[in-house]
Amino acid sequence: MQHLRSTLDRIDRKGYGAYRDLSGSHDFRSFTLVVDRVQRDPFAPPSLIRVRTKENRFDRDLFANLVRRVAFEDFLTRSVEREIRRVVHGDRGSGGSGRVEIQRASQVVLPRTSMVVEPGYVEARMAVGLPARGRSVDARAARTVLLEELPEVVRRGLIPAPEGGIVVEKARLHVETVEDADHLRGLLSDLGLVAFVAEGAVLPRESGASDRPLESGAIPFRSPEEYRAEVELPNRGVVTGMGVPEGVTLVAGGGFHGKSTLLSALSWGVYDHVPGDGRELVVAREDAVKVRAEDGRSVSGVDISAMIGVLPGGRTTEDFSTPNASGSTSQAANIAEAIEVGTSLLLVDEDTSATNFMIRDERMRELVRREPISPFIDFVRPLHRSLGVSTVVVVGGVGDYLDVADRVILLEEYSPSEATARSREITGKFPPRAPLTDRDVPPPRERTIRASSVDLRRGERQSARGRGLHAIELGRERVDLSYLEQLAEVGQTEAIARIIGEWAAAGGIRGMGELVRGALASVSEKGLDPLGSFQGHPGEMSLPRAQELAAAINRIRPLRAGPRM
Ligand code: ADP
Ligand code: MG
Repeated sequence: MQHLRSTLDRIDRKGYGAYRDLSGSHDFRSFTLVVDRVQRDPFAPPSLIRVRTKENRFDRDLFANLVRRVAFEDFLTRSVEREIRRVVHGDRGSGGSGRVEIQRASQVVLPRTSMVVEPGYVEARMAVGLPARGRSVDARAARTVLLEELPEVVRRGLIPAPEGGIVVEKARLHVETVEDADHLRGLLSDLGLVAFVAEGAVLPRESGASDRPLESGAIPFRSPEEYRAEVELPNRGVVTGMGVPEGVTLVAGGGFHGKSTLLSALSWGVYDHVPGDGRELVVAREDAVKVRAEDGRSVSGVDISAMIGVLPGGRTTEDFSTPNASGSTSQAANIAEAIEVGTSLLLVDEDTSATNFMIRDERMRELVRREPISPFIDFVRPLHRSLGVSTVVVVGGVGDYLDVADRVILLEEYSPSEATARSREITGKFPPRAPLTDRDVPPPRERTIRASSVDLRRGERQSARGRGLHAIELGRERVDLSYLEQLAEVGQTEAIARIIGEWAAAGGIRGMGELVRGALASVSEKGLDPLGSFQGHPGEMSLPRAQELAAAINRIRPLRAGPRM
């Protein structure tokens, strides 16, 4: 600390580059500050620092196993973020002077690079805008930030009461909530369920732009009697809620009655949520994929022949590529790709689907004889029977889906009820729709992908970086991830970019499934840190799912991929 103080005195008012003298570790009373990377000027991205406490005084049981450790690290990241907001004044000069940051966590709990909990210490990875007046060192402001504000953030945000500010009961609630959700997700398969929504869950969100719970007027979830299931969780004990069984589940209801909100909550149920989110005990199979139409996307060598037959000009679809997919072909590709990397649950919303992919009615069958699409309505049952892939489909307009559903849940005024029997009566009143094809769906053919299709060069450098939540940049190529509805946070996008970067740099030809599983196995063994660009502070990353990693690769426009090349 003394050394840091004297270094700051020495470099005061010098050119900004003098801050480089802060590189390395500095000993504070209760922690070590490591300055890993000093920014070039006050306007550049902030300097990267780590803060490591000298001991870990938290109860061992808060991080006794992997799930608990991830949850506890998540808790501490949020706690540091909150204390930064309370303690740090911010703006102390030009550019980012005086700003202190830690990775922003979304509503979901994920392994992140921002925090490491070990039996002997707790380490937070942060960023600081080293203060400048114009372009020269402002040592007085730097002293305030590094010697006053930062230690206070550490005390309040990383150290348990009474010395520090962390209320251990809150940490325990966080960890136990996550552990329960994770346990619940693990039960689904044995119970023959694909999803579970606890009684009292709050599904609606604050707004289309915010994933926080709707504060006022939210109607808590109530399960229909017929689907009520009881589960026993390690911390909460017995919990009841709606169990969604395997097979084809139809969610019907009038416009604005909460259908999409329910489906969206299920799609986020692949992740654990923080206490207070409202969806703490809303879970789905971890491999669930929400699929939608995405016209304009590129498709590389995907076998969509089970859904789409011969295209104009006699073009077959076992190895389908296009730089510009239509609504229906993009949705078919999204489904085939989801199955390729392994999914047991598709979530489909009529609102975001291509109509001609979902259904074709009698009149159109008469008029249009050359229709390559065999609509999803004919595919959804064989998909479950042959491949064990269940579907939850939200429908407001297309009643034909009543014919193929194993069960129908009706939403009225945000309240679900069982409507299978009634829909059977209704379908009995109409002539049966065109005979149900009882065909088998073959398992998808696995593709291989060529690393050489990705060119990482960008000027002198090679680059593979995330650009916000919904884009990555590989060399000069931008990959659009706007329609990946289950990407939770920027750190996942960054990790995806870096994994793709490593694959592209390594070269070769690999199976898609093998690549994705291999990359995630390596991350779960070694953590996210090795994906960082240099020693020490690895940057801000969160764990992505295999599904989003594969989806990002699939959207690389120059990608060369196909059935075993
Ligand atoms: P649908 O898909 O049936 O047309 P949405 O799911 O889009 O309807 O919901 C319509 C509106 O109702 C949204 O603004 C949503 O936030 C709100 N909403 C959904 N569920 C609830 C609920 N349980 N309580 C209060 N508002 C809700
Ligand atoms: Mg809707």
